[in-house]
Amino acid sequence: TYVIAQPCVDVLDKACIEECPVDCIYEGGRMLYIHPDECVDCGACEPVCPVEAIYYEDDLPSEWSDFYKANVEFFDEL
Ligand code: SF4
Repeated sequence: TYVIAQPCVDVLDKACIEECPVDCIYEGGRMLYIHPDECVDCGACEPVCPVEAIYYEDDLPSEWSDFYKANVEFFDEL
């Protein structure tokens, strides 16, 4: 799955939402989140993010590794 990290916080540009073919990017509070089970790993969202907040899970910078869990848990709580 792709993961949205720290740079999205308080930005929520939403260009990624337009790009996602399966509509699996959701708004929640201060950032956007990618549903890990709905994401088809197409990568379309990554280059359109103006703040480079989106990463493939294995490429997530280590300082933002907590965001993998943050994206998963956002949907667990719904
Ligand atoms: Fe949507 Fe593709 Fe981005 Fe996954 S990788 S969130 S399916 S645009």
